[in-house]
Amino acid sequence: MNRGVGPRSRALFRRASRTLVGGVDSPVRSFAAVGGSPVFFARGRGAYLVDEDGRRYLDLVGSWGANLLGNAPRSVVGAVRRTASRGLSFGAPSALEHELGERLKDAVPTLERLRFVSSGTEAVMSAIRAARGRTGRSKIVKFAGGYHGHSDGLLARAGSGVAAGSLPDSAGVPRAITRETLVARYNDPDSLRRLFERWGESIAAVVVEPVAGNMGVVPPLPGFLAALSDLAHRSGALVIADEVITGFRLRRGTVGETLGLRPDLVTLGKVIGGGMPVAAYGGRRAVMEVVAPVGPVYQAGTLAGNPVAMAAGIATLAALTASRYRRLEETSRLLERVLVEAAAEVRAEPFTVQRAGSMLGLFFAPGPITNVEEAERTDRSRYARFFHVALDRGIYLPPSALETAFVSMATGPAEVERAAPAFRAAFRALREDSS
Ligand SMILES: *Cc1c(COP(=O)(O)O)cnc(C)c1O
Repeated sequence: MNRGVGPRSRALFRRASRTLVGGVDSPVRSFAAVGGSPVFFARGRGAYLVDEDGRRYLDLVGSWGANLLGNAPRSVVGAVRRTASRGLSFGAPSALEHELGERLKDAVPTLERLRFVSSGTEAVMSAIRAARGRTGRSKIVKFAGGYHGHSDGLLARAGSGVAAGSLPDSAGVPRAITRETLVARYNDPDSLRRLFERWGESIAAVVVEPVAGNMGVVPPLPGFLAALSDLAHRSGALVIADEVITGFRLRRGTVGETLGLRPDLVTLGKVIGGGMPVAAYGGRRAVMEVVAPVGPVYQAGTLAGNPVAMAAGIATLAALTASRYRRLEETSRLLERVLVEAAAEVRAEPFTVQRAGSMLGLFFAPGPITNVEEAERTDRSRYARFFHVALDRGIYLPPSALETAFVSMATGPAEVERAAPAFRAAFRALREDSS
């Protein structure tokens, strides 16, 4: 089934598995959800990746959404080189930190004060600590299928990577911690209302991906995010918009407020580091000033705001022009059309694309998919088959049915058109399997 993965990738995986747990540093990279041996990449440029066997792939993963500008964009690589030559980390203030911070603030009105950290996990974990510190309450609400990093309290019904590893919750997380985590159903305000009726006085915050991107792509139904904000604020809880994927990907800034969400805290990651480890949390000044050294909530980071990562973020944001976002939307719309038409052409339905800008969720089921239960009922073995045929033909899709495919700004109509025959072949393989 996995005949397309080359001999060098296979050999490297065997060797890596003798040193790294499962051969990888993050579970979904292992291909556990689609079967077979993962591809090892040697380099990337623009829309394409090249593996250790010299095979080229159209990159529709983009480092899980971080590489909005594509692979190794010249301006970002140049900024990293220049900055690195002056020092990799000072563990002391440097001007690039507030420079990137100012650019984020300019684009995200919620960010009156912010703090840089090194991963999305840290950003959400810290935002929750700030919310608890500010409200004096202990419980948090998340949505089933929402992924907010791997901190203990958030590994309850956490979506793609976790679901794919058949770990609905993680071992090693004390029940005492997840007892403080209440789980509602995405796109279902009533499920949230019930939690607030029962626990309202002790809920510190509701954390939500404004467009869910870790159960495939599931956009919010009209009114859902506004109802969420009302319920939270009426009971004195804060709203945390986890925009680690959506921030600066769907538009220059965050997307929640354009969809009716009224966040008190926002988390960013992925795109804002342009491929380097950068994330941030921030929000209204009165809320953020609970964080040390101003307030009593402790949070720190040895490499937080390090100059090389900041330089990558600054160069990335500088490249995010309105015309690039327009072209990204056009390319993404074309990709959606090419996929849907290819499926129809070879009669491989049911197949549904749910797209929010350059995020595409591919579901082998009739749409729409509105929550994680529905996403989990789609045919994931068909996705795996589709994935492998596409991979053989030079398309690198996310190696898990419930992950999002990402289009980069280095991808244009020509690259999408060139990929169409591969998609047709992948759909055809599905039909042959079922006949
Ligand atoms: C990726 C992701 C995170 C975690 O970010 P890491 O940098 O992987 O720790 C948190 N929230 C959302 C919505 C994400 O997609």
